[in-house]
Amino acid sequence: MGKVLIIGAGGIGRVVAHKCAEARDVFDEIMLVSRNVARCEEVRADIKRRTGKEIEVAGVDAENVPELAKLIKEFRPDIVVNVALPYQDLSIMDACLEAKANYLDTANYEPKDVAHFEYSWQWAYKDKFKEAGLIAVLGCGFDPGVSGVFCAYAQKHLFDEINYIDILDCNAGNNGHPFATNFNPEINIREVTQKVKYWENGKWLETPPILDPKSIHFSFDYPVAGPKESYLLYHEELESLVKNIKGLKRIRFWMTFSDNYLTHLRVLQNVGMTRIDEVDFEGKKIVPVQFLKALLPDPAKLGVNYTGKTVIGDVFRGKKNGKERSVYIYNICDHAEAYKETGGQAISYTTGVPAMIGAMMVIKGLWKGKGVFNVEELDPDPFMEELNRRGLPWEQVEFKGELYGELIH
Ligand code: NDP
Repeated sequence: MGKVLIIGAGGIGRVVAHKCAEARDVFDEIMLVSRNVARCEEVRADIKRRTGKEIEVAGVDAENVPELAKLIKEFRPDIVVNVALPYQDLSIMDACLEAKANYLDTANYEPKDVAHFEYSWQWAYKDKFKEAGLIAVLGCGFDPGVSGVFCAYAQKHLFDEINYIDILDCNAGNNGHPFATNFNPEINIREVTQKVKYWENGKWLETPPILDPKSIHFSFDYPVAGPKESYLLYHEELESLVKNIKGLKRIRFWMTFSDNYLTHLRVLQNVGMTRIDEVDFEGKKIVPVQFLKALLPDPAKLGVNYTGKTVIGDVFRGKKNGKERSVYIYNICDHAEAYKETGGQAISYTTGVPAMIGAMMVIKGLWKGKGVFNVEELDPDPFMEELNRRGLPWEQVEFKGELYGELIH
């Protein structure tokens, strides 16, 4: 039916490639490319061993637009799935425009020298994609991704207007390491150490970062995982959801962190290991957070002994037929099961499966459009069906605050 080119052979890329290989009825040809071709070869061998299916691999620098455009022109994919790093988003979009391919990613653009992400750089490509007759789907992992699809679904079927949204991301797993990040350490640490903000009554309000003693957190009693301390965090989907959800008065994002994780991160930050600027080390320039990445466990290899579950979902409050209503939609994913199926842990799995489904939506013509779209602007129904079919089933319950511990409304 279609051809997919996957860029980035890390933890997430491994899962996308596995899940595309499992869905051979949709993806006739799969190519996985990355800067380091050896990582692609490793994934190719693993997919062959697990599923008996073949994929193609190649090495490419995704920041080199002519080189990447040449590769895209030769392979001629229906869609390019970018699961490299946010730094490569714009060069991959440029290459897609040059080679005439649709585009999908899971994280918005971020310049290397400033720890700051926002959609404006990629939204600026709207006209170019429109003129080229191509679709670019932004933020199609779990959060961003499924978190926005849940919003679109709630807006379409459950509410006349949604007034309050709380996105809650819980990892209740144990990977056996004293300190490890679940996706690329550099990107993860840049995200969680920044200033926090949320949106209320048309304004962005700033609160202290998660390491600050004044950070905002509370205990939420997650289904299956139980009560977990959840910290207010800024997350990129908030920026597009405030534009695309009708009647919104407030939207916030919460993520669980253990005391152990926060203690390690605090020490690393205090000694300067999370710095993103260059420092002199024995006559060489090094970036401390990149050196730290070299020391930490590779998130793509964390799955081996990972136990426990992730619980990620959205709580909505709004009105339906003139009455107040509150609904919680969530997914539970098991680390060990994700590993058994794909060799990746649940964070890679919950990101990689939606990226594969998004690519499937475009190839099947179920997500159509010319220009640049965030996932909540596209039809949630076929995507929600595939979540149930492809390993990320979701639950929908009427939300009664008192069942979940401290009230979040
Ligand atoms: P990894 O670091 O494990 O993998 C990234 C891969 O990209 C590596 O294989 C790397 O190659 C490759 N890469 C880096 N630079 C280039 C380049 N210039 N050209 C070609 N390939 C390159 O990261 P993860 O798999 O953990 O994360 C991937 C993405 O997923 C990130 O952008 C992250 O923000 C996003 N993400 C999204 C989530 C969501 O829910 N929406 C959740 C978690 C992550 P090499 O091996 O040579 O370094």
